Amino acid sequence: MDNLPLVIASGNKGKIQEFKKLLDGLPFNVSTQPIGFEVEEIGNTFMENARIKAIAVSQETGSLSLGDDSGLSVEALGGAPGIYSSRYANSDKERIDKLLAELKPFPNRKAKFECSLCIASGEKVLIEVSGFCEGLITFSPQGENGFGYDPVFEVSGLGETFAEMNPEKKKLFGHRGNAFKLLKPELKKLLTAI
Ligand code: IMP
Repeated sequence: MDNLPLVIASGNKGKIQEFKKLLDGLPFNVSTQPIGFEVEEIGNTFMENARIKAIAVSQETGSLSLGDDSGLSVEALGGAPGIYSSRYANSDKERIDKLLAELKPFPNRKAKFECSLCIASGEKVLIEVSGFCEGLITFSPQGENGFGYDPVFEVSGLGETFAEMNPEKKKLFGHRGNAFKLLKPELKKLLTAI
């Protein structure tokens, strides 16, 4: 059987590369959503947004599609920034500064990253999984790697922020890696059922 087309519902180059690597070894012909195609993230949860993106791109392209949404939820802030993680402020630095300022009065530094993934065929949802990574928000940025909130997110039990880890280690413990660990066996089942 020829490789099955799978369209990644994202225009973000870094994410596309990461997803291609995570899907390595599976019989898919991976491509990305049409240039300029935009889907509004109007869901109330990470999973709703992943689903909205996957369905929209599958309907647009006629192929199986992978949608995702991810972000950081901080316990003492009632789960903020959550689904608004990328819209919390205008740059990574401003987002981190705002998070540290808002969390200043609270001794509870617990937080978790979540990554929700959805595979859709047209309007039909075929697979949904979520991966998590628990940790603590540090008092100042530490480390140079990664992106987003990585410098202030210390992974539970490791004593290192995501930004202090190399990409392989982040993949091993991170929310996206954990979500893909759940997705891969479901994709294999789907492929045998087709
Ligand atoms: P999205 O999944 O591309 O919509 O990402 C939402 C936002 O969550 C990003 O812009 C980052 O601010 C944050 N985020 C998601 N995953 C990570 C991560 O692995 N490290 C740091 N920040 C992340």
